Amino acid sequence: MTVFQKIIDGQIPADVVYEDDLAMAFRDVAPQAPTHILVIPKRAIRGVSAVREADKEVLGHLLWVASVVAQREGLTEAGYRLVINEGRDGGQTVPHLHVHLLAGRALNWPPG
Ligand code: AMP
Repeated sequence: MTVFQKIIDGQIPADVVYEDDLAMAFRDVAPQAPTHILVIPKRAIRGVSAVREADKEVLGHLLWVASVVAQREGLTEAGYRLVINEGRDGGQTVPHLHVHLLAGRALNWPPG
């Protein structure tokens, strides 16, 4: 079971900033920017490579949640970055789909 599944199940604590039937958002435990929030589906999807057609609604929902959370955090004017790390070369470390919401400083491009 992944650490994110344990957060969904309430087995380990998280600083949750948003929750609904399909998704959760909580602060990253090792923030890479002043604001670093993870948006995850409650459904256990390993990553972008593992999505099925039935996941299309939840995929769109994750972006919608990211937008809502960014507005609540007051990030809309300055901007922010949404990142999905996929697989080994993408730098994914937790095999449960998640969108990083990073903000609060100017972010470099291209990423390392
Ligand atoms: P990734 O490397 O894209 O798979 O991102 C996984 C992220 O999960 C990293 O930024 C970690 O800091 C974060 N993370 C790992 N465990 C926890 C946890 N218990 N609570 C919050 N964030 C976590």
